[in-house]
Amino acid sequence: MSTSMKAAVYYASGDVRIEERELPTPIAGEVLLKVLRSGMCGTDASEYKSGPKMFPTQTKHPISGHHGPMILGHEFIGEVAATTDGSGGFKVGDIVASGAGISCGQCKRCKEMRTNLCEKYVTLGLNRDGGMAEYVAVPTSTLVPVPAGLSLDAAGIAQPLAVGLHAARRSGVRDGDKVLLIGAGAIGTFVLAGLKKLFNAEVTVMDFGGSRLERASRLGAHHVVEVGDNAESDIKKIFGEAGIDVVIEASGAPGQLPFAINLVKRGGNILQVGLPSVKPELDVYKIVLSEINIQTTLAHVCDQDLAPALEILGTTTLAEELIEGVYPLSEISAQLELLGAGKIQGKVLFDPSL
Ligand SMILES: [Zn+2]
Ligand SMILES: [Zn+2]
Repeated sequence: MSTSMKAAVYYASGDVRIEERELPTPIAGEVLLKVLRSGMCGTDASEYKSGPKMFPTQTKHPISGHHGPMILGHEFIGEVAATTDGSGGFKVGDIVASGAGISCGQCKRCKEMRTNLCEKYVTLGLNRDGGMAEYVAVPTSTLVPVPAGLSLDAAGIAQPLAVGLHAARRSGVRDGDKVLLIGAGAIGTFVLAGLKKLFNAEVTVMDFGGSRLERASRLGAHHVVEVGDNAESDIKKIFGEAGIDVVIEASGAPGQLPFAINLVKRGGNILQVGLPSVKPELDVYKIVLSEINIQTTLAHVCDQDLAPALEILGTTTLAEELIEGVYPLSEISAQLELLGAGKIQGKVLFDPSL
């Protein structure tokens, strides 16, 4: 093993550099991973476009202590290259997926199995150096073995799928419900996969017409609705008198949360996934007088969501449907730009060995 590695380092908006870095040294409880696949998501694209918003480049992160340029990458899998005291059952050569979020295990939320809300939560690649590099040091508490036979590309999207699965858990959907899912991009597709895995519900997916909706149909959406002037009447035709039990807003587009509040039936649930691009004005009267529940969802719970995500990837065509390409690290800026411009409909992965 050489003592240095290639890494994609975030400096500022529009400034991500491929640099030679020293190999990270794992501390007790961590392992050194040789990264096999690493993904990027909307958070990375938004930091690239108009950040830093949450990356600790200018101000020190209160928990991780990181301050300055940071290696990207919170969606990655790898091969254990070195262990430490407290590496648990993991040994050199194991192929593992990382949930990326590190929790303390001691605080109230951790004890409630809501580790994503841990008081000391730190995410690799968001709050300290991550996995968009040849190697990364990772706490074993975030690791789950990749099942034998699952391709590296498929395993490479386990972390964002875990986020979708967590969203599905948070949605309040029950068997037999009629659900409207707004957004069929990568996030919406992960939520759809989560809903299909967890519930026997009738899911209608809404987005702009074309390849995304075709993909949603192939992945099990019962109905699809094209955004446009006819959307509301199409929705009424599909749901009829029964109405919509749950609306899941996974597009982030302006106006969608108010739209969801307007459409959901009395006593229904709304799940807001991610942050809307514009702060919405909400009709509090409608929310109260119809006793509407508004839920939110953040990241995922490693112990609950990551292993089932790997299982879904081994038993569905989700990975083939979503993965658009596997690139060398040198492509990172170009791909972040494309993602930020809305030109990637699925997921792209990076293989640092290319
Ligand atoms: Zn992400
Ligand atoms: Zn905690």
